[in-house]
Amino acid sequence: MSLLVLKFGGTSVADIDRIRSVAAHVKREHNAGNACAVVVSAMAGQTNRLVAWVEEAWGYKADGDGGADVSALYDCREYDAVVSSGEQVTSGLLALVLQSMGVSARSWQGWQIPVHTDDAHQRPASPASRSTRRQRCSVAKSPFAPASKASPPNNRIATLGRGGSDTSAVALAAALQADRCDIYTDVDGVYTTDPRVVSKAHRLDRISYEEMLEMASQGAKVLQTRSVEMAMQWSVPVLVRSSFDAPDMPGNPDTGEGIGTLVCHEDEIMEQNVVSGIAYARDEAKVTLLKVADKPGVAARVFGPLSDAHINVDMIVQNVSEDGKSTDLTFTVQSADLDRALEVLKSAKDEIGYLDLRGATDIAKVSAIGVGMRSHAGVAAQMFSALAEKGINIEAISTSEIKISVLIDAAYAELAVRTLHTLFGLDGA
Ligand code: ADP
Ligand code: MG
Repeated sequence: MSLLVLKFGGTSVADIDRIRSVAAHVKREHNAGNACAVVVSAMAGQTNRLVAWVEEAWGYKADGDGGADVSALYDCREYDAVVSSGEQVTSGLLALVLQSMGVSARSWQGWQIPVHTDDAHQRPASPASRSTRRQRCSVAKSPFAPASKASPPNNRIATLGRGGSDTSAVALAAALQADRCDIYTDVDGVYTTDPRVVSKAHRLDRISYEEMLEMASQGAKVLQTRSVEMAMQWSVPVLVRSSFDAPDMPGNPDTGEGIGTLVCHEDEIMEQNVVSGIAYARDEAKVTLLKVADKPGVAARVFGPLSDAHINVDMIVQNVSEDGKSTDLTFTVQSADLDRALEVLKSAKDEIGYLDLRGATDIAKVSAIGVGMRSHAGVAAQMFSALAEKGINIEAISTSEIKISVLIDAAYAELAVRTLHTLFGLDGA
């Protein structure tokens, strides 16, 4: 008998028929003698509907792209109170369907099995114990009691951001010391790149926590970044698999063979490519400060106020300006933070000293990820020449031990992903 946490995303619980299929997966595990705790997302589309209601109630009219950060304008605790209700509905419905199938089940709401968060309702925060907007708090659970209870300090409901139910599920799996956390979604595993963009992408049997962490943080939304961080920290094996597969599909979820992708420690993976996957993100924006005086302390004067405003900066490039005497400073922030970043820099113009300030959102970040890079030189050079051959200009570069990211014109994002996917031998199975 194993103790499993099963998580089902929004598309997996989109309507009652889908909830019935989900229940069939839960029933299979239950009949096999496993104890199951189930974490569910809001039914697809519900969260957007709730967010729209909050905006309407507050009288806020989105100006088209929804890019502006309006969270500061209204009471985010009430936003969370409204938005967290979507998961409560799904958990009750799932419990009902399970009961109708003869499986003993009950729903538990977020406040009944509280997950420790801080009282931040507005800003994304990194440590596992902190909360952000839009946490998925609801936990549907069958048929055993929770192992730990805790309360957020302000005793209000908080949300963990889009994809937050991944993090809730892993947190629950860690707290319950579950044998595995199964993340059911609308793809049958983690692919070498987003299968919706590259048809030649293939499913990985296994991927290391470190690679999955880079994939997620560089844009592969199949798992929320913080859920992977937490799984790595607590050594929770995570199996990503499809809720659309027949519940009786053969395969061995314990080994990750035949079913889904097992996210596990690196030493549990036998075969390893130099590059395991390609990720891309379009949600970053570029800020350029032209003709900044080239003297000590300037970088601190630029990035200090941004950090005070809780704006995270990702890639940074500094070049000599046309006049040869000053520098141009380019960096990226989340698109949602662009307007605030520009405001902050405008107000600090006199202290910083620059000629002009520009912001752009027509950029994309494409990343190659693989633990094999630690022992293989030349990956970056190969990547840059392949992109150059396709006429793709690189505006900025950032690297880690197992990742190389380039910033390019958004129009070339898909071409770049396909080019790198082929270059690193990831096409086909
Ligand atoms: P859920 O609602 O179940 O949480 P998500 O939409 O958050 O599902 O995540 C699943 C989606 O992630 C897939 O439909 C796929 O388009 C996308 N995705 C992006 N990169 C990858 C990848 N490398 N492997 C698998 N899926 C990916
Ligand atoms: Mg998700």
